[in-house]
Amino acid sequence: MKTFFSTLFAVSVLLVNCTNPIEQKSDKPQKTNEFALVVHGGAGTILKKNMTPEKEKAYKEKLEEAIKVGYNILKNGGKSIDAVEQTIHILENSPLFNAGKGAVFTHEENNELDASIMTGNDLNAGSVAGVTDIKNPITLARKVMENSEHVMLSGKGASIFAKEQGVEIVDPKYFFTENRFNSLQRIKEKMKAELDHDGKSAFYDPLIKDSKFGTVGCVALDKNGNITAGTSTGGMTNKRWNRIGDAPIIGSGTYANNATCGVSSTGWGEYFIRAQVAHDISALMDYKGLSLKDAAKEVIQNKLTKLGGTGGIIAVDKNGNMVFEFNTAGMYRASMNDKGEAEIKIYKD
Ligand code: ASP
Repeated sequence: MKTFFSTLFAVSVLLVNCTNPIEQKSDKPQKTNEFALVVHGGAGTILKKNMTPEKEKAYKEKLEEAIKVGYNILKNGGKSIDAVEQTIHILENSPLFNAGKGAVFTHEENNELDASIMTGNDLNAGSVAGVTDIKNPITLARKVMENSEHVMLSGKGASIFAKEQGVEIVDPKYFFTENRFNSLQRIKEKMKAELDHDGKSAFYDPLIKDSKFGTVGCVALDKNGNITAGTSTGGMTNKRWNRIGDAPIIGSGTYANNATCGVSSTGWGEYFIRAQVAHDISALMDYKGLSLKDAAKEVIQNKLTKLGGTGGIIAVDKNGNMVFEFNTAGMYRASMNDKGEAEIKIYKD
């Protein structure tokens, strides 16, 4: 009997040793990074010839400051949702980017902000659109996701909810920046000239509209394999009629799924909504088995470009691969891997 059990034990040990390595191989795909983080500060006609060294430095420094905040959260085992929210705060609080403090002006000379956030473990999402008095719209989007039974709130109702949730409210004048106000005036002048020329509405003419965007976004994968994506914006200069862009639309401006990837978009919102850019990238990975790089390329360089849309995305997949894809001259962007190595870029290269 004793020999029988010893033999049984030996066989079991052998079996475990033989099968485990194979199981491990198929169960655990090679991770490029245990955790990873990408950030964008908008895409568009960003050309070196129009940039001063000081401006370039200021953008890069702010992107670096932002990404380091998220990196430290992830490195210490924090959640991707906290990394995304805190990273976006830095960009929302800077006048350099078209989100929060630096939001662009509407035709009526107000600021209307949109934001959204999504978590990939539960496909939960929250978003706000057309808010005028919320200092950090990304935080309100998170509150909508976590503390309401809704996905999307807008305008005045979103402000009432913000007050109930103790989210910081500011006087709408907080969003005034001379730079953005002057951009609106320049566009209005060009628009007037264009109207005199052919009598058509020039609102969405890409030659007339602000040629760079400036939305901010962040995608993070944490040590637990959870992906979060978030996007925050002032929308497009000279927008009117309470126009809402892609940034608060789940599947267009933001998407996250732990089984595939997280995506944050920036660009000409109407096209990103029509092309369902963020979800499409995830779906190509999910249904067709494409890599993140190939899926992003397909959606941006083929589908979006054919439609006539301009802009780009940042994304991280479940294995910590980080991707930037855009069809514009530049995109303010940064990435940081699990070793803390940063890549901060503006132009195409
Ligand atoms: N996607 C934003 C919008 O259309 C603009 C941007 O990315 O800067 O509202």
